[in-house]
Amino acid sequence: MVARQDQTTDPELLEALLHARRGTAFFARTLNELTDAELDGDSLLPGWTRRHVAAHIGYNARAIARLIEWAATGVETPMYASSDVRDHEISFGATLSPIALRNLFDHSAVHLNVEWRDLPAQAWHHQVRTAQGRIVPASETVWMRTREVWTHAVDLDNGASFADIPEPVLERLLQDITGAWKTRGTDTGLLINITGTDLTSGDTTAQNPTLITGTLPGVTQWATGRGTHAVTATHNGTQLDEAPAAPQWI
Ligand code: ZN
Repeated sequence: MVARQDQTTDPELLEALLHARRGTAFFARTLNELTDAELDGDSLLPGWTRRHVAAHIGYNARAIARLIEWAATGVETPMYASSDVRDHEISFGATLSPIALRNLFDHSAVHLNVEWRDLPAQAWHHQVRTAQGRIVPASETVWMRTREVWTHAVDLDNGASFADIPEPVLERLLQDITGAWKTRGTDTGLLINITGTDLTSGDTTAQNPTLITGTLPGVTQWATGRGTHAVTATHNGTQLDEAPAAPQWI
């Protein structure tokens, strides 16, 4: 018999699943508000139309579902055969008719949700490999999807903004990004602070850092490389005309 509710009872994982499901619903709403003709318009990602974004999110759900099948069966099924295959899939998806593109998003999202729901509680610990080659427990796929649906909903450039993204999602995203900078040493001289909080990250030992401040949505938007207008930069006590672009993230 097929279960109608999640097999896991881990409260942290259930909370994470909630953010992924809400993000998927948010992406769906944003996509549905676009007319078929508007799908041809530019997204916020250089070189990508809204069609590319929708296709990417659809194929991303399929790729993550493959990881869940891997965790469930033990049979290795990678996200993508190669990064070329992934890129080719997205360019192909962008040429689909509007109805086919919308179906791709809807069906892949439902399928992934069923895979998550029916994954036995103990299988969430099983290890799988991401497209970047990281070995992670199956539970990590929930965050991988959460990040994609929320940020790419903004990329549809249809009124959604980082202010729509729940605070715990923004906090984890910012942590991921500043953590990646730290690992690569690309945050030298950059100190980041969320206005009105002691949430500080970046190069905390810099002698004379450039201080980036803003709201949590504003700073996270900047950190993902989506513009500099939502933050303020200060150096030597003087406010700069424009904040520096954030270091590369992915
Ligand atoms: Zn993406």
